[in-house]
Amino acid sequence: MTRGTSDTRVPRRQAMRRKTQRMHHHFYQRYTEWMHGSDDPAAPMHWKRERWILAAAALTLTVLSALVMPVWARAMKSDVPPPSYVQIPLAVPVLASQEQPAPPAQWQIMHVQPGQTLSGLFESRGLSFADLKLALDATKKSGTLHDLHPGDEFAFLVDNGVLQAMRFDPDSTHRVTLRFAHGAVTRQVQTRTLERRVHIAHGVINSSLFGAASRAGMSEAMVVKLADVFKYDIDLAREVRTGDSFTVIYDDVWRDGAYLHAGNILAAEFYNRGHRFTAFRFQKPDGSIAYYSDDGRPLQKALLRTPLKFSRISSRFGMRMDPILHSMHLHAGVDLAAPTGTPIHAAGNGVISIRGWVRGYGRYIRIRDTPAYSTGYGHMSRFAPGLHVGSHVVQGQIIGYVGQTGWATGPHLHYEVRIHGRPVNPLTVTMPKPKPLPPKLLAMFKTRMQPMMARIDTVDANVRLASRMASDHLQAD
Ligand SMILES: [Zn+2]
Repeated sequence: MTRGTSDTRVPRRQAMRRKTQRMHHHFYQRYTEWMHGSDDPAAPMHWKRERWILAAAALTLTVLSALVMPVWARAMKSDVPPPSYVQIPLAVPVLASQEQPAPPAQWQIMHVQPGQTLSGLFESRGLSFADLKLALDATKKSGTLHDLHPGDEFAFLVDNGVLQAMRFDPDSTHRVTLRFAHGAVTRQVQTRTLERRVHIAHGVINSSLFGAASRAGMSEAMVVKLADVFKYDIDLAREVRTGDSFTVIYDDVWRDGAYLHAGNILAAEFYNRGHRFTAFRFQKPDGSIAYYSDDGRPLQKALLRTPLKFSRISSRFGMRMDPILHSMHLHAGVDLAAPTGTPIHAAGNGVISIRGWVRGYGRYIRIRDTPAYSTGYGHMSRFAPGLHVGSHVVQGQIIGYVGQTGWATGPHLHYEVRIHGRPVNPLTVTMPKPKPLPPKLLAMFKTRMQPMMARIDTVDANVRLASRMASDHLQAD
């Protein structure tokens, strides 16, 4: 890095700098919640500091390799036989190479592609139909080889073009190995142990729920599950505020010591704008599973809070100047802006009472959810197939897709809730509180809930203690 050659290096360095800046820019654009103190986008980046870090890293590497290389070299040397031994077998090189054992055949692992059949799988490995028939015969009784799903894992052990063995997983807890020898097949079934590992996570939101949850060690899948558990009480996509906090007990599924997939939310506590919400997963003796608050009431309510998973409120309930009619009107619902084609979910169980084109509303569906409640959905681009007046729908079922039919200035869902025919604000309407579990089940629920509640309380107490100690420390300073 002499200064003498810098003339030729300047353009290249500038190009590299531009590229790095571009990459940084992309990174922060994609992960905006990672950006701190982003109020001043014009602040120059510290290129000098980066250069020093790079230089220090390079120096460290150089020093390390200088120290380590001789050690490696010495270690390697001890494995290599001294030259004098090498020279003797050179006299009979052919024999020497024959004495070397052939490398053992390796399992070749592959995953079923969409639309791929078992014979297609065999063909792609260059394996014969005779082998395929042997494999099918060996598993005929269980039928486990007939049901292939995209993503299923298969492994083949092939030696010199001859199939030695194959293995596959008929379900998440079994692995079948078929060994082929002399035209016969032996079948071995191995049971794989599934294990659920329980975790507890606590987070305080300062920019986004995903950011706080990820700092607490939760996967994205688990955050989505958490949002789903509380969806009747909190819209975690929209209503979370800085300072909100959560404590969650959840599990993961592991198999043979390796992470397999996300498990369930077992218990959760969420402080949203000062209100405390709790959720406990409880399985009734009849096998049905649901979430209940700590007083034993089901979290599920007659209506979802919104019929869209992610949306932005573009117009609220109440009197407003109508953007199309240019006069004051009661806006009898709430407008939720979302891209055209976003699925619309039925807010509750019910029967469709209107499905068709309604002036102003465009494509419109109304559902009579209970004798008292009805919900309406307007401006749909299209209806879900198979729905007509009189169809029964269940809560969460997709009934149509966002559009801008009728009087709409952009793609959005006009959503309304009526009680005895009178429009109410869907965002603030309070649903009647569901009844708690009957006494016998309530007792069972409390017994199972207690230890989880105790764990959550312990975390809360520790967090309070830590923050008190931190503030005492600040005061002492
Ligand atoms: Zn509207």
